[in-house]
Amino acid sequence: MKKYNHWINGAEVAPASGEWFDTVDPYRGEAWAQIARGTKADADLAVSAAHEAMKVGPWASMTPTQRGKVLHKIGDLVIENIDRLATLEARDNGKLLAETRGGLKYVAEFWYYYAGLADKIEGSVMPMDKPDLLGMTYREPVGVVLALTAWNSPLHFLTIKCAPALAAGCAAVIKPSEFSSVGSLEFAALAKQAGLPDGVLNVVTGFGGDIGAPLVEHPGIAHVTFTGSDVTGAKVYAAAAAGMKRVAMELGGKSPNIIFADADLELAAAGAVSGIFGAAGQMCSAGSRLLVQNSIKERFTELLVARAREIKIGDPMDASTQMGPIATAPQFKKVLDYIEIARSEGARCVLGGKPAHGPGIVGGQFVEPTIFADVNNSMRIAQEEVFGPVLAIIGFEDEAEAIKIGNETAYGLNAAVWTSDIGRMLRMSKALEVGTFWGNTYRTYSFTMPFGGMKRSGVGRENGIEAINEFLETKSVMISMSAIRPTNNFIPR
Ligand code: NAD
Repeated sequence: MKKYNHWINGAEVAPASGEWFDTVDPYRGEAWAQIARGTKADADLAVSAAHEAMKVGPWASMTPTQRGKVLHKIGDLVIENIDRLATLEARDNGKLLAETRGGLKYVAEFWYYYAGLADKIEGSVMPMDKPDLLGMTYREPVGVVLALTAWNSPLHFLTIKCAPALAAGCAAVIKPSEFSSVGSLEFAALAKQAGLPDGVLNVVTGFGGDIGAPLVEHPGIAHVTFTGSDVTGAKVYAAAAAGMKRVAMELGGKSPNIIFADADLELAAAGAVSGIFGAAGQMCSAGSRLLVQNSIKERFTELLVARAREIKIGDPMDASTQMGPIATAPQFKKVLDYIEIARSEGARCVLGGKPAHGPGIVGGQFVEPTIFADVNNSMRIAQEEVFGPVLAIIGFEDEAEAIKIGNETAYGLNAAVWTSDIGRMLRMSKALEVGTFWGNTYRTYSFTMPFGGMKRSGVGRENGIEAINEFLETKSVMISMSAIRPTNNFIPR
């Protein structure tokens, strides 16, 4: 069994604790590698390596164009190593190999996109209200960035945080989820191969309390970018605030997927199935609340059940598998608990509702595609994030009621609407309180489109040009061009 160390300053570093822990293949339910158990001493080492890289290393003296070329090469190496990385990811978190491979192709695109942006970060020269005074702004890297990531898409999260951070000239420390750290460690070695100077991208592993918290509190961290649950996010946010750090929080969701009677129902059913059963529902953007207009509710539910019943569950490495296991043992228990909660609240289970068994299903962490009808939006199954293959169907009468139910949630990550009425589509896109709105589609992403949440779904935006601004500080520079400029000419601050 391979034993993984931290990756600090361009090399493997054994944990100061001298301890490693197992990482488990959720399909087989067996340990397949060992991960370093990080502590504060390792956090200190990684942050200091990132500081050195930003201040005195070659990274500091490279031009933005040179930095962009390195980021481009990272994208190339992701493509060259796609089979190896996709297999590692699928093994570590149980996602389908087809999905991890598709995801990694897109990871490369992110690196290319931010490679191109590296030398397009511009300051301004301001029109001044005083004579003989030059006023301008510099856009400078904010400092060392800490990226804390969740287990469901480790390399995607690493990339959407680190590609813009590095394009801005920052250095980074990544602490991946303790459930799926291998991909990030292998990625860091590839980045070195691409020419990324030592210390610019460091990966330390371990548990949130042992090493995540000391990293957030570390005075050398300028920005904390987090993807995970809102409960942990709130703790991290508070700790970062104490140190007056910048934050970006990508948190959970309870997204409404809204089907009107005038939609193309076959397309909508396909979108609803992929929106909740893709990645076995372990997506922040899962369309876990399906709002269906009352006039088609019975018919649409039948359509959905017929499709979902056909989902092939099994080995993530098998190309014919459509749904894999739940990634972690605690998450498996949580999903089953929510199924019981839904039953006890009076929701009607029309499909699934128990652990899945059968040919090709081993390891014991599978849940059947599960659909609950007769859900009321105030039930816990409609309000709390399950993060599993469990769908709650809620009826609505008209547009006004769809908006009301859609917005009656603590979350605001994304929403989708299926309709053939373009006026309604546009009205809904404005009325729903979410960071991303989809019309007649679901789970559509682009590196050019900002992504993030409103309300408890988060703070800040990732992707697109906007993401780079999160990693830049604006410095105002005013220089007198006259021999003497008495300071009392200025409005005091
Ligand atoms: P989590 O909140 O348990 O953990 C996220 C990360 O934070 C992990 O690396 C963990 O080790 C670390 N951590 C835990 N406690 C910490 C502490 N006190 N200080 C610093 N770091 C700490 O999340 P998870 O279970 O890994 O992921 C599932 C959650 O992630 C779901 O709620 C899901 O909605 C959310 N998610 C959000 C998005 C998004 O983009 N909005 C994407 C995927 C997942």
